[in-house]
Amino acid sequence: NVPNGILGVGYGGSSRGHGGLDAGGGLSTESYCRRHEITIVGDNVPPPYTSFESTGFPSEILREVQSAGFPSPTPIQAQSWPIALQGRDIVAIAKTGSGKTLGYLLPGFIHLKRSRNNPQLGPTVLVLSPTRELATQIQAEAVKFGKSSRISCTCLYGGAPKGPQLRDIDRGIDIVVATPGRLNDILEMRRISLQQVAYLVLDEADRMLDMGFEPQIRKIVKEVPARRQTLMFTATWPKEVRKIAADLLVNPVQVNIGNVDELVANKAITQHIEVLAPMEKHRRLEQILRSEDAGSKIIIFCSTKKMCDQLARNLTRQFGAAAIHGDKSQGERDHVLNQFRTGKSPVLVATDVAARGLDIKDIRVVVNYDFPTGVEDYVHRIGRTGRAGATGLAYTFFGDQDTKHASDLIKVLEGANQRVPPELRDMASRGGGMNRFRRWGSSGGRDGGRGGRSDSGYGGGRGGWGF
Ligand code: ADP
Ligand code: MG
Repeated sequence: NVPNGILGVGYGGSSRGHGGLDAGGGLSTESYCRRHEITIVGDNVPPPYTSFESTGFPSEILREVQSAGFPSPTPIQAQSWPIALQGRDIVAIAKTGSGKTLGYLLPGFIHLKRSRNNPQLGPTVLVLSPTRELATQIQAEAVKFGKSSRISCTCLYGGAPKGPQLRDIDRGIDIVVATPGRLNDILEMRRISLQQVAYLVLDEADRMLDMGFEPQIRKIVKEVPARRQTLMFTATWPKEVRKIAADLLVNPVQVNIGNVDELVANKAITQHIEVLAPMEKHRRLEQILRSEDAGSKIIIFCSTKKMCDQLARNLTRQFGAAAIHGDKSQGERDHVLNQFRTGKSPVLVATDVAARGLDIKDIRVVVNYDFPTGVEDYVHRIGRTGRAGATGLAYTFFGDQDTKHASDLIKVLEGANQRVPPELRDMASRGGGMNRFRRWGSSGGRDGGRGGRSDSGYGGGRGGWGF
């Protein structure tokens, strides 16, 4: 049975003497977890690997990670890896973009290295994924990080001819990444055996269930030996996901990153919603910036890289603005962040993805120049201000194109005792909303590719994932 809720942290071993923690900057396990909002349900949970060196991964894997330019494991990786390497089942709940893919892939690689399976008799690692786009992204990650370990990986998804997929299977593969529908088809054709699968991953479990894949998943799991390790990665933890986790996982450790009840906005943040036409936004933004003391840290969110660059250019002379987004090199990002942190350029213009995971203190104002793809991201964005007891301020420009979020946004505002502007109520009554409560609703998100709004280098954002 998977516990529903946070029962407490039961770490095995002491954090002192754990080399990795020192490598990660001398942090204790407790402060690392607090800082990264890691909560755990389970007994004798090993402490997180706060640095790559402390993972003990083979050198070829460490080299790949280094050449990707990753500074350190993400929190979900740091905490999932030691648990997965113990061979335990795991439920990992973390937002999109938090690095879940390598969270399960790298321990899967270790599993593979230890196994003596013949790839021609079927895969050892099986990853189920809701969409073709996600499956191919996972495969790309597996190929990139598994290259020097000589790991073979293929992708099975619908909407493409079966021939090449069957040929890959026949050639022999270590890792199969599949959408449940296509894998079932191939199983029914008896062209693949899952008898060797020892490491089963359900990625984006919540979305797979939303998309109605539960029967297919259950059928597939019947073909996988009961003696296996099962890992479930999900962005949310609704009842249906808890149920299937309880059925398919054995005594899992649950790792949670971030706010569990994420739709509750911090009441210390004053939220201003301003219904504006697109052409009014820039003038209003300048007003807001002028009304703040010089040097106050301000983050402006917009939805495209182009808009990011453009705003930063316009604002840099007067306000010291700089842009950060997925097209910037790691060096540029580091530089921009440093300038922001130290207050040299106190205004940061960012896309969601680039700003994700940034832990910057004393941000005074968040401006949503463009409304995000959903209220989850909204709450996440404004949560960057009002930290640690300080009060914060959030301005959000809301336009006609955002009408569908109006009623969800009202719920968030009301939940935090904020004023709801009458224009917003009007928009809601004109048919905006219930998006969040019809998750991955009609917005075309689920099998949409990455649209022009996409900030590259990341998986799709949750909800409308053209982001
Ligand atoms: P999720 O599955 O949680 O949505 P992904 O696994 O798709 O997230 O990872 C998001 C992005 O972060 C990818 O581009 C990935 O290469 C990158 N990434 C993964 N691990 C790290 C890391 N340790 N440091 C920096 N970036 C990382
Ligand atoms: Mg993912």
